Amino acid sequence: MNTTGYAALRCDAPLEPFSFERRAPRPNDIAMEILYSGVCHSDLHQARNDWGWSSYPMVPGHEIVGRVTAVGSAVTRYKIGDAVAVGCIVDSCMSCDQCRRGEEQLCRANATQTYNDRDRIDGTPTYGGYSKHLVVREEFVLRVPEGLDLSRAAPLLCAGITTYSPLRTWNVGPGSKVGVIGLGGLGHMAVKLAVGLGAEVTVISRARDKEADARALGADHYLVSSDTEAMAQAASRFDLIIDTVPVDHDLTTYLPLLDVDATLVIVGVVGPIQGTNTVPLLMGRRRVAGSPIGGIAETQEMLDFCARKNILPECETIRMDEINGAFERMERADVRYRFVIDMASLPAAA
Ligand code: NAP
Ligand code: ZN
Repeated sequence: MNTTGYAALRCDAPLEPFSFERRAPRPNDIAMEILYSGVCHSDLHQARNDWGWSSYPMVPGHEIVGRVTAVGSAVTRYKIGDAVAVGCIVDSCMSCDQCRRGEEQLCRANATQTYNDRDRIDGTPTYGGYSKHLVVREEFVLRVPEGLDLSRAAPLLCAGITTYSPLRTWNVGPGSKVGVIGLGGLGHMAVKLAVGLGAEVTVISRARDKEADARALGADHYLVSSDTEAMAQAASRFDLIIDTVPVDHDLTTYLPLLDVDATLVIVGVVGPIQGTNTVPLLMGRRRVAGSPIGGIAETQEMLDFCARKNILPECETIRMDEINGAFERMERADVRYRFVIDMASLPAAA
């Protein structure tokens, strides 16, 4: 079917209206109308080719919520009208050890990304959620639990799962002391989710101006990373730090905050980290790790957890034609705390 969306045609061009084809559903596909699409910093990175693997035209968007409009003949889990969601991946080999244990994001043959990738079967480009319609194989579709506000749920599909997964991997629960570096889209979800899991949470930000917000989100403490005295006082405080900073930065500032054997998990910067001094790493037997999104089962678990605990992102709803301004604001860290595009603002024909 023909559909419409917004695409980057080059790395240095603003996004613009774009018409394209979505495949007819295969037997195991669902088709959905997209109602809301979250704006992740990764969309900005990829639209601008910050990571060096972008191809164009690119329709970004991997925080997608909508309703099923058609199902293939072999689909068993969904029916027309169901509230569904799609995150960062739309396919994987489904047969390697990682896929078999529900960690499709770690697929040995590389999971297929929702956009800026190629379909595994016909090789056509994948186009993301800044569009009216999507066709996805049913195994990569999530169910939006009843009671979760559709207009705010979309950011859970990337910002939510990317922070929930390390919290679960490192067994965060009551008594855990968690630090969150950077209070943006991922950071504010990390705070809400860690609080929901029962942890004591500290936001580590560059400036004082988000302190009231951090506390309203549930954080117990607030650290300004340039306040050397407060940072020294917080030495060895944390069991886990989630680092959401989107650009290269020196980890040396943060490593002393970890307890012995504790871990700083990088979910933000994609690329080289330079200048880090390993002394605090070695001396405290501290660890640095990375973590990409989460598997499909864990994503569903996170959605169900959010519905149960009434955890939702703080969203600023925008029209599709406001996306370029939203990107600029995101670059200035002027987002409180996630832009969500209301797809009803996009005309059916470009
Ligand atoms: P965001 O909403 O722009 O938030 C990033 C936050 O980091 C900002 O609010 C700011 O917080 C802090 N920050 C920004 N620039 C900084 C700088 N120059 N130095 C230090 N801190 C800075 O971005 P996001 O959507 O949360 O995404 C964050 C990163 O995660 C992006 O790089 C994105 O590509 C990546 N990501 C990774 C995964 C994964 O699977 N691992 C998934 C999604 C996104 P303060 O003002 O509080 O300092
Ligand atoms: Zn994302």
